[in-house]
Amino acid sequence: MQDKLTLMIPGPTPVPETVLRAIGRHPIGHRSGEFQAIVRRTTDQLKWLHQTNGDVLVITGSGTAAMEAGIINTLSRGDKVLCGDNGKFGERWVKVAQAFGLDVEVIKAEWGQPLDPDAFRTALEADSAKAIKAVILTHSETSTGVINDLKTISSHVKAHGTALTLADCVTSLGATDVPMDAWGIDVIASGSQKGYMMPPGLSFVAISDRAWQAYERSDLPKFYLDLGPYRKTAAKDSNPFTPSVNLYFGLEAALEMMQAEGLEAIFTRHARHRAAAQAAMKAIGMPLFAAEGYGSPAITAVAPDGIDAEQLRKAVKTKFDILLAGGQDHLKGKVFRIGHLGFVCDRDVITAVAAIEATLQSLGLHRGTMGSGVAAATAALA
Ligand SMILES: *Cc1c(COP(=O)(O)O)cnc(C)c1O
Repeated sequence: MQDKLTLMIPGPTPVPETVLRAIGRHPIGHRSGEFQAIVRRTTDQLKWLHQTNGDVLVITGSGTAAMEAGIINTLSRGDKVLCGDNGKFGERWVKVAQAFGLDVEVIKAEWGQPLDPDAFRTALEADSAKAIKAVILTHSETSTGVINDLKTISSHVKAHGTALTLADCVTSLGATDVPMDAWGIDVIASGSQKGYMMPPGLSFVAISDRAWQAYERSDLPKFYLDLGPYRKTAAKDSNPFTPSVNLYFGLEAALEMMQAEGLEAIFTRHARHRAAAQAAMKAIGMPLFAAEGYGSPAITAVAPDGIDAEQLRKAVKTKFDILLAGGQDHLKGKVFRIGHLGFVCDRDVITAVAAIEATLQSLGLHRGTMGSGVAAATAALA
C-alpha cells in the first residue's frame, strides 16, 4: 500500500514527521550566521549523545566514511592493529585497515558469538614492545545482532597504556549506554540513518585528545576525510566543505527529540524492545541467532530452523508492508533480523510480531498457537 512501508531494518530506520519537516525547508547558506548557530547547537547535542567533552565532527557521507576517517587520521603506514571480527561489520574494519596498509591481527569469533575480551587482553599483555597502535572493533554487530563487550575490551586497551580504541558504534549509539569518556574510547564512528532517527547521509566521528595526539603523527593519505580541517572549522561553528545543510536541519530536530526523551529513557526503551522481540520469537519456537545474553538492543536476529527466512521476510513485506532485514552472506535464507533501532515504539514491535505470526500461519509454518508471540511480547513490555 502506498506510503505504508514500516522500516524494521537496522538502517535506514524510521524518521519522525518533525525531522522530515525540518529537512523539507529551503537550504540556507552554509557560511551564514543562521547556519553557524545550527552547527554550534548540534555540536553540543552530539557531545551530549556521546557523553564526551571531546570533539564530535560531522562528515557528509555514510557510516563507513566515519570508520575510514577514524583509521586514516590516527594511524600510520605499517602500524600494527588488533581488529575484532565476529560479523560483516568486523570484516569491514579489517578491510579498511588492510586497504591502508596496516598490519592487521584479526581476533575472530564465530558469527552469533560475542568477541572474547580475554583474547584482546592476552594479545595486549603480550605486547611489551608496545607495537599495537590500536584495537578496532564493532560494538553492536548488526549482521548477527550481537552486542560486544566494548567496556571491558577498552579497559584492557587502557591497561596496555599506548594503544587507542576505535569503535564502530553505528547501531549502539542512541540505543544503549556508550559513555565515550568514562570508557576511555578514542574514536567512535556512527551514521545518521541508525539511532539518530534521520535519513542516511551524515556520519559522525568522535575523537579523544589521545586520538588527536596520534593524528599529529599519522601519515596515511587523506584529503576529504582529513579531520584536521573539520576540527579547525568546527571551532568557528563551520565545516571545511559544503555540508548537507538540510540534513543538519534534521539533525538538530532529531537530537532535540532525543534530549527531550533523555538518554536513560532511550536506553530503557531499546532494552524493552529487545526483550519483547526475543520473548516473542522464543514463544513461537524461532531460535535467536545471537548467543544468550549478547543480543543487541538495536536488532534481533532470528534463525528459524527449517524455514526459509527469505520467504518469510518477503511474505511479511508483501502482506503487511513491514520490511524486515535478511541475513547477510552465508546467513542469507537462514536468518532474518528485526530492527528496533531509533524511532520505534511498543506498537511497532507488537505489530511486527503479529505480522510474523500471521505470515507463518498463512504459510502453514506456525509452530505454536497463533498469538503466543504477541502475548509474550506484550508481557515483556508490560
Ligand atoms: C550501518 C552500519 C555501518 C555503516 O554502514 P553505511 O552503509 O556506510 O552507513 C557500519 N557499521 C555498522 C555496525 C552498521 O550497522
